[in-house]
Parts: sequence; structure tokens; C-alpha cells
Amino acid sequence: MSVAVRFAPSPTGLLHVGNVRLALVNWLFARKAGGSFLLRMDDTDEERSKPEYAEGIERDLTWLGLTWDRFARESDRYGRYDEVAAALKAAGRLYPCYETPEELNLKRASLVSQGRPPIYDRAALRLTDADRARLESEGRKPHWRFKLEHAPVEWTDLVRGPVHFEGAALSDPVLIREDGRPLYTLTSVVDDADLAITHVIRGEDHVANTAVQIQIFEALKNIEGGGAVPVFAHLPLLTDAAGQGLSKRLGSLSVASLREEEGIEPMALASLLAKLGTSDAIEPRLTLDELVAEFDIAKVSRATPKFDPEELLRLNARILHLLPFERVAGELAALGLAEADAAFWEAVRPNLSRVAEARDWWAVTHAPVAPVADDPAFLAEAAALLPEEPWDLSTWGAWTGAVKAKTGRKGKDLFLPLRRALTGRDHGPELKNLLPLIGRTRAEKRLAGETA
Ligand code: GLU
Repeated sequence: MSVAVRFAPSPTGLLHVGNVRLALVNWLFARKAGGSFLLRMDDTDEERSKPEYAEGIERDLTWLGLTWDRFARESDRYGRYDEVAAALKAAGRLYPCYETPEELNLKRASLVSQGRPPIYDRAALRLTDADRARLESEGRKPHWRFKLEHAPVEWTDLVRGPVHFEGAALSDPVLIREDGRPLYTLTSVVDDADLAITHVIRGEDHVANTAVQIQIFEALKNIEGGGAVPVFAHLPLLTDAAGQGLSKRLGSLSVASLREEEGIEPMALASLLAKLGTSDAIEPRLTLDELVAEFDIAKVSRATPKFDPEELLRLNARILHLLPFERVAGELAALGLAEADAAFWEAVRPNLSRVAEARDWWAVTHAPVAPVADDPAFLAEAAALLPEEPWDLSTWGAWTGAVKAKTGRKGKDLFLPLRRALTGRDHGPELKNLLPLIGRTRAEKRLAGETA
């Protein structure tokens, strides 16, 4: 049977680094196994789901290169959920309950005050037909709970190892709301079963759901026949540097803001998220294929991984220092540097943490710069020695060799005044690379103290 995984976001907000890490791990798992990756929008929460969030998720995944082989939307599948709910009712596994949220809160509070776990007491199972008729005549509508088997639920988790739950220690989950809408706990199982998902890889916030959902998978199998219960893997959730959880609404760690405001390259984010919380060292990788080759879910540790934006920015810089011009040409053009070429990119990339910083160096090589010319006599001697064009990568060495022979200066005394005059700054890319880009006309004027 071929491997099939899914990433199933709820389009109720922007994807943040924690969500997208799960997308990446699923994608790497599928590619490594030669299997398929399904993108599923869990959009049955109609109040909170928004088309623009669904579009944002697709944009973010596409930007990272996480292409999907299949796509599904839960809101297209209400008919199927109704059919399954009817079958579960007929099999006696879904039962109607009439408690209001306030009544349920009171029950829970009373159990907790007695030091008992807040498990639903199944009072609704004891209602007679007459009780139900009376409640409905009062205008109450039922929500529907799944009747769990009071038996152990066990699975071998690819990250957590053997996991054991007692059915009796869990509350019968509500699968159908009183307005008739199915809830995630049901819809996810129906989709995973219908779409033949072999491995469910998700966050550890879903461990208790898994215990319940395994029983739903088994109930469906008994009723309808069909496939095996998937294998599960629950990854520890990312936290921020202080150990706090990353909320989905935390805009600053959204993939969109990392891309649009922080200037993070897709491979920087992928290189970090593929390795965070694993036994592998975090190293810059330029292609997803390299990450596929290195991926093994057995390397994911149970310890909580911390996401550090500074680490991401450092990795972004290391990636830029390696990226060939073709990989950034589009981004440079989008920054207004459509004329930038490989020579420019290779000259400036060692000094960049973000591609947008290339604009500063473009201005130094192609726009007027106010030079810092505080040693005019020396600069005039140097200017007189400027070779004729054409200039190339050997020009700087030849010229400064001549200036050194003429003036006797060396090291910082030789180079810093030249750098300040030619670029207006104390630091920057190697002048060997910049000088041919600046060109003789500008260089001569800047050495004379003129803005050019
Ligand atoms: N929509 C669920 C979530 O975003 C999916 C969980 C799952 O992978 O089953 O948490």
C-alpha cells in the first residue's frame, strides 16, 4: 500500500511556523516514501473559516515549494458526513444529548470539586423516549455523542512510542452539533478513511483526540468495511524562546510576515523547520530534495523544540551567501533591481542577511554616493594611479599595489580611506568585487570628494 499523508489546516487564521512545520514534515515524509501529500481544508467551522485564509495557506505552501498531490475541502463533503452519522446512529454508536453548555459546565465543576475527572456521565443514555419527546417539545435540539467502548486504546506512535489510553477515562465526544453540523473529530476520521490516509502526522495537542478517533475508525470499519487505522505520529509543538506556545494568531510568526516583512527565504525556513527538534544539526540547504534525503521521522525527538527568530535570520544569511544569482533574480527584480546581474549578486551576497539589503549596495555601485574623503592628498595620489578601463576582478589588486608602492601605505591606512571615499562607508563587500561595478568615472570623482 502506498504511503498517503495529509496536512489539514483549519483556514481560521494565518499559518505560523508551528503549523507549517507540520506541513513540511508531512511533505518530507511523503516524498521520502514516494507517497502522496494531500492538502485538506478543515473548514467546517463556518463562523471562523475564511476563503482568504485558505488562499493564504495555499500561497504559503506554494512559496515553500510544498506542492500537494491531492486537495480536499471538508465543506464539500457534508453529504458524506451525514451518511456516516446516520450509519453510526443506526449502529447505536451516536446518541442524542440535550444538556445545555451551562448544564455541562455545572456537571464538570461538580466532578472537579469532588476531585474526580470531568468525564461526561452519559446521563443522556438513560433518557426514555418520553423524556426525549418532552425535551424536544420544550424546544431543545440534540447534539450527538459517540459512545466510546470502555476498553483500552493502544497504538505505537512514530514519535512517542507505545501509547495507552483507557476508554473509560475519556468523555464520549460530541460529533454532531445541535444545528446538525459535524465536528472535526468525526470529519477528520471520515476523510482520513475515505482518502486512504496511511499516516497521520500532527501535533501532540491531538494525542487524546487520537485515542477517540481510533475508536471511530474502528466503528466505521465495522459498519462499512474498509481500510486500516492509520499509523500516528505526534510531534511536540514548537514554543518561543521563553517556552510559550505559538498561537495561530500570532501575526509576527506567520509565514506571510516572515516572507513579506522579515525577508526570509523559503529554504531558510525549510532548512530550520525540517531539523528543529531532531537529532540532525541545522545547516543551510538550498533544495528541498536535500532535506528529503536527510529526513527520517525517527530523528524527531520528544523534547520541546524552541523556535528562535534570530536563528532563522542567521540561517537566512548563510543561505543567501550560497544562493546562485538565478535563484534570486526574480526577488531582485521585484525590489526594483531588474538590471542586477550575477557579478553584482556575487559581489554583495556575502554581506546580506536579507535580499532587500542588496538595494543599499546597488545604490553604492549605481547611484550617487557622498564619499568620506578626509585625506584628500592621499586620495588624489591614488586617483592619479587609477588604471584605464576595462576593469575586472584583478583591477583592485593592481591599483592598490601601485598606490602602496607610491605612498608606502599598507593595511588599514591604505584600504580604509579608499573604501570610505569609494563607498561612503567603513564596511561592506570586498572592494575587488565592487570596484568594477562602480566604474572609473564614479571612482575618480569620489576620490576627488565629489558626490557621484
Ligand atoms: N484541523 C486540525 C488542526 O488544524 C487538523 C488536525 C489533524 O491533523 O487531524 O488542528
